[in-house]
Amino acid sequence: MPIDFSFTPEQEELRASVREWCKKEITPLVDEMEEKEEFNKGMVEKFKKKFLNMWIPKEYGGTDADTVDVCIVAEEVGYASGSCLTLLEVGGLGCLPIVFGGTEEQKKKFLAPIASGEKFYGFGLTDEGAGSDPANIKLRAEKKGDEYVLNGMKRLISNCDIAHSITTFAKTDPSKGAKGISAFLIDIGNPGFVVGKRLWGWGIKVHHTNELEFKDCRVPAERLIGKENDGFIYAMKCLDRTRLVLAAGNVGIARAAFDVAVKFAQEREAFGKPISEYQAISFKLAEISTEIEAARLLAYKAAWLDNQKIRHTRETSMAKWYGCELARKSAEAAVKILGGYGWSKDYPVMIHLHDALGFINAQGTTEIHKMIISRYLFD
Ligand SMILES: Cc1cc2nc3c(=O)[nH]c(=O)nc-3n(C[C@H](O)[C@H](O)[C@H](O)COP(=O)(O)OP(=O)(O)OC[C@H]3O[C@@H](n4cnc5c(N)ncnc54)[C@H](O)[C@@H]3O)c2cc1C
Repeated sequence: MPIDFSFTPEQEELRASVREWCKKEITPLVDEMEEKEEFNKGMVEKFKKKFLNMWIPKEYGGTDADTVDVCIVAEEVGYASGSCLTLLEVGGLGCLPIVFGGTEEQKKKFLAPIASGEKFYGFGLTDEGAGSDPANIKLRAEKKGDEYVLNGMKRLISNCDIAHSITTFAKTDPSKGAKGISAFLIDIGNPGFVVGKRLWGWGIKVHHTNELEFKDCRVPAERLIGKENDGFIYAMKCLDRTRLVLAAGNVGIARAAFDVAVKFAQEREAFGKPISEYQAISFKLAEISTEIEAARLLAYKAAWLDNQKIRHTRETSMAKWYGCELARKSAEAAVKILGGYGWSKDYPVMIHLHDALGFINAQGTTEIHKMIISRYLFD
């Protein structure tokens, strides 16, 4: 079978329409949102309606988009705004554990409000016990009658300020490590559950992360997603897909910084000619453009494997770390090529740099992805 690297006419059409949508609905708001460090609420509502149904199967009201299509959307949204990329990313993280593990009744009840754009669910895995090693989370959920009682905390949980509920992972059997974790859908406002202090961050700063506090938080048993102690499996299946949003989305960030640098290099003159005519500049841009191509190939190959239902944990890890590190590299190159303007707020390249640094540490750090890849080398 021949290899075909081209996108279909439908995929090209999707990219063009998402690009237009972002130019109209996101780009004009970026400066204001970055300044206020807050999402524009009207834009968030439109974003939810437009894109979050992609994560939901058709029988529950969604469009059941394939992963290549999700990556196309992620790349274009990432180009427009790193912070807005978190809406797509966390939107998927919050609902995919239900798609993968929920009972039929839960899918009908909890997925329809996502498909219609009415609700948004956050994703609460990281806590005081662990980030990179989620088998060691500490949040405890004890079964008492037909309820679960949760005690503990979560940290670094994204987009709680726009979420209605959080897909929360807790230990139901602490003696069993990863095999003792369950997932719950917990509404914000559930007694015993409060969204706590914000952890202020340097990048992706329109989006916020918060701590979550659970004190004798009682949750009805029907809020246990799927089966008790299967939560870790749902989380890992989910991450295999949502990490690709960051892989492709960071290709978008890399492109955004690169485009600013290419334009600037052609316009800015030093020593009597445009700086693009100096090899120190043009070779740097040639390198970045090569790496953008490489990162795109990694991301879309992993997405294609997901579409074929072929295991792609290794390829996803490659695409995630490489895409995020490339966005950092492209933004850092742009900051340097722009000279003093690179540092200024007149150009967005510092925002891209800080956004990329934030994404490097989300959904598994670069070291964790290299660890996953190396397991395939030696196992
Ligand atoms: C912007 C942002 C948004 C986030 N949003 C969410 C969210 O919505 N929900 C959620 O659940 N979590 C979220 N997180 C948390 C994120 O998943 C964790 O920060 C990440 O997994 C790293 O965990 P940690 O911070 O506990 O670092 P640690 O696990 O403590 O790691 C610290 C350092 O040690 C390194 N390290 C750890 N283990 C190894 C190893 N075996 N070999 C080599 N190096 C190692 C790491 O790479 C890192 O450099 C978010 C994080 C960020 C930055």
